[in-house]
Amino acid sequence: MKNQSICLAPGPSELYFTAEDHLKKAFREGIPSLSHRSSSFERHYQTVVDGLRQLLNLPTDYTVAFTSSATEIWERSIQSMVDERCHHFVNGAFSKRYFEIAKLCGKEAVASIMPDGSGFTSAEACEGSPEVIALTHNETSTGVSMPMGPIHQMRFKNPTALVIVDAVSSLPYPDFDYTKVDSVFFSVQKGFGLPAGLGVWLFNSRCVEKAQHLQSQGKLSGTYHTLLSLADYAKKNQTPSTPNVLGIYLLGKVIQDMLQKGIQAIRKETEYKSAVLYQALEQSSVLKPFVKDATLRSRTVIVADAGNERDRVMNVLRQIGFEPGEGYGAYKKSHLRFANFPTHSREQIERLADAIASLS
Ligand SMILES: *Cc1c(COP(=O)(O)O)cnc(C)c1O
Repeated sequence: MKNQSICLAPGPSELYFTAEDHLKKAFREGIPSLSHRSSSFERHYQTVVDGLRQLLNLPTDYTVAFTSSATEIWERSIQSMVDERCHHFVNGAFSKRYFEIAKLCGKEAVASIMPDGSGFTSAEACEGSPEVIALTHNETSTGVSMPMGPIHQMRFKNPTALVIVDAVSSLPYPDFDYTKVDSVFFSVQKGFGLPAGLGVWLFNSRCVEKAQHLQSQGKLSGTYHTLLSLADYAKKNQTPSTPNVLGIYLLGKVIQDMLQKGIQAIRKETEYKSAVLYQALEQSSVLKPFVKDATLRSRTVIVADAGNERDRVMNVLRQIGFEPGEGYGAYKKSHLRFANFPTHSREQIERLADAIASLS
């Protein structure tokens, strides 16, 4: 039994409740010393691929590749799929960073920008025929989520573009139709409840074709990883460089546990817990939901505005065993962020909501 508090920061967050047992088993099985060129490693890679296909309903036309982080995928996706132009939908600090990285990669990046706490409710036809449209499903900085409708309509409105979705702080919760987007990515220290240090990049054959086209023109940049090098090795369940073998093993195990529970149960529970939390925030005289429009509220990262009461509320919650996340950036001292990931139980979230309701 651990006696630490329950981590509600959006990432790194509380470990999935089975992670510690899997970690101990991994050490007994010698996973930290396992060669990434062994057939045993290839089987662990395949376990993640099969598991994600089932858990997320991922089509067979998608490749599953591993990187060091989601931040690496921001950069690799731009380097491997954009020659000149990309368009970013920016509604907070994470989507803004993706946009900035595209500019640093030397691309003509254009952004549609919304103020903090608001977001995008419809898909638009972007000007200038961007090659990539970058969306952030869940803005971890402000707790704004992009509804599924506009995500799924974006390629319909922009048929020549590749639509890439950052779902780092929401997966496995969202039920994407992967045939209506081209690439989705995440890292494991958020909703999957694992130690940080592994990015997971899902991309379809349109992405591979685009990267091949750039390569044939001598325009594919990127050093030790490109989309094509990752895709080539992925065909053999391998990676170009030595990856986080332990992280890949643990991800395979946690996905199996999630499949056992059932993705529908995970989604329903996520919705229930977020409803309980938002209701407590709505009724509180001390905290308020930062996102006013209920249709844009994230189910997985719930952000509360505490004004100048933040330190007091933080202390109350710490005393009953919760460690909330601080606000992001400029909101560091006035917001609290509550992760609502699969490992956070109904009982924990109900207890948190009760504590919020009794604040005065
Ligand atoms: C955390 C986060 C990232 C960055 O993930 P790293 O694993 O730290 O690279 C990117 N996008 C979003 C939305 C995030 O929440």
